Amino acid sequence: MSLNLTVQQIFSWTTQLSAQQDYQALTHKFLGLLAEIPWIDSAAAYEFYNHERKKSGETGTVRELLVRRFPLDFTRNDEVDYGSLLNGIDHTTDLNISAPDESGLYTWAIFSIRGGSGPERAIHLKGAFDREMLELLGNLRGVYRNLVILHDTKERDVLTKLPNRQSLDARLLQVCEHYSDYQVIDTVQEKSSWIAILDIDHFKRVNDNFGHLYGDEVLLIFSQLMEKCFRYNDFLFRFGGEEFVVILNLATQETAVATFNRFRETVANYNFPTVGRVTVSIGLTHVDGISMPTTQLDHADKALYYAKDNGRNRVILYEDISVLVQDNDHSEIELF
Ligand code: GH3
Ligand code: MG
Ligand code: MG
Repeated sequence: MSLNLTVQQIFSWTTQLSAQQDYQALTHKFLGLLAEIPWIDSAAAYEFYNHERKKSGETGTVRELLVRRFPLDFTRNDEVDYGSLLNGIDHTTDLNISAPDESGLYTWAIFSIRGGSGPERAIHLKGAFDREMLELLGNLRGVYRNLVILHDTKERDVLTKLPNRQSLDARLLQVCEHYSDYQVIDTVQEKSSWIAILDIDHFKRVNDNFGHLYGDEVLLIFSQLMEKCFRYNDFLFRFGGEEFVVILNLATQETAVATFNRFRETVANYNFPTVGRVTVSIGLTHVDGISMPTTQLDHADKALYYAKDNGRNRVILYEDISVLVQDNDHSEIELF
């Protein structure tokens, strides 16, 4: 078996990879190029979240290695255990390979991608490789890794390391496009995606009373609480200032509202160093597959406004607002 790749091809690939506008597009392109190689049968990308988690009903925390396959498959309604795929993998090395078969070829290889401000990533390849092929793949991995690090710098917020607003626009478009093909009508029974804007209450007072540095620390801890509370298959962003966005995936309406309420309580009960208590208001809406991404964000924002106008420290579902207004005797309240 030969490598079957020309110098021209390698240069063409490098050019194509470096032309990609964001991490998502880069990873799609990289997997596509790998799949073109005759001695590679399949290529998949994974992200690892090695989080401390609190299991419900327990007081202690556990470290759990969570794996997210790229891109997220919205059609899967159950959490899939990709962990078994990666069992026994040494996370301290850049390359894990199978034992050689009788002809001396390796049947799978996992390349680690580390060093960016995002999660640890890995590329999992199946096929039949010899040492020379692995060396070539190692060099391609190097190009991909360097580009991932560059994209992380552009697409992640410096303070919290969460994906920034620019990444949200790309992600939300992707999620909306998915649901325009698979529309979910019954949000009570069926699992689908939800978009929420989370805005810290009276944050200006935190800055005014304690200074900007303590304000920044609240933002950082807030983002860490988000990472602990939401699942690895939800998408988290810093929207700007003291506003954050969550795209919650694979959840029914009841689960979505309960999840955001649980997070709201977690924040309200957290003792922020020096600052003490901080609360958050949350507005959310269903990703319906019909509205434009900007309209979806606008709906979440209207729900957030309602939460702010009605006492703060609460979760409001956009789809409930008209009912809430009708129920309210003081219906002269101007909403929008
Ligand atoms: P509300 O409950 O209505 O949301 O009130 P608020 O005070 O949280 O909202 P407002 O929009 O009036 O103030 C937001 C403040 O957030 C103002 C700004 O100084 C502060 N802020 C924005 N970005 C940062 C940041 O990166 N660090 C710090 N420390 N403060 C920030
Ligand atoms: Mg705000
Ligand atoms: Mg605020």
